[in-house]
Amino acid sequence: MNIDPATGWCQQAQHCPSPNFNERPEAEISLLVIHNISLPPGQFNTGRVQQFFQNQLDTSAHPFFGAIAELRVSAHFLIERDGAVTQFVSCLQRAWHAGVSSFEGRETCNDFSIGIELEGTDFEPFTDAQYLALAQLTRQLQARYPAITPSRICGHSDIAPVRKTDPGPHFDWARYRASVAANEGEQ
Ligand SMILES: [Zn+2]
Repeated sequence: MNIDPATGWCQQAQHCPSPNFNERPEAEISLLVIHNISLPPGQFNTGRVQQFFQNQLDTSAHPFFGAIAELRVSAHFLIERDGAVTQFVSCLQRAWHAGVSSFEGRETCNDFSIGIELEGTDFEPFTDAQYLALAQLTRQLQARYPAITPSRICGHSDIAPVRKTDPGPHFDWARYRASVAANEGEQ
């Protein structure tokens, strides 16, 4: 994992560019937001999250898709169950993952954050491969954007508590934070 400082793209990730981004209003990236997503909900490795972030979801494929197909959203990264990392938006650009949100009194967290989606749900554990990939990616992001200190890594539910529950009760924050601090998975 290595974030190219000139482009904001991670060279080792799969690239799946999303049109859902715009310019950040300020340069400093200072928050990391962890999410979960699966499409259809609870089904994994379907390729639908990639389609969703590219505005290519087939609404006839599943009843749930009709409710979300018109949304224009994205995240910078998706980590699938096997630990595969896909990037949709340059870190230098503003992805559309947080929505109405507030961190320490500062609103519109998309302006200054990076969003990582873990393929999963609120109802079951994440995989070892996901924790490993997430720790590696987090440390690379912190190396490139040092304002992302440990206290500035949070869940979507922390910045949008009324609307959002992800990454959910099965995300093991202690394990994740210890793994990042221990440089586990160093490459
Ligand atoms: Zn979320």
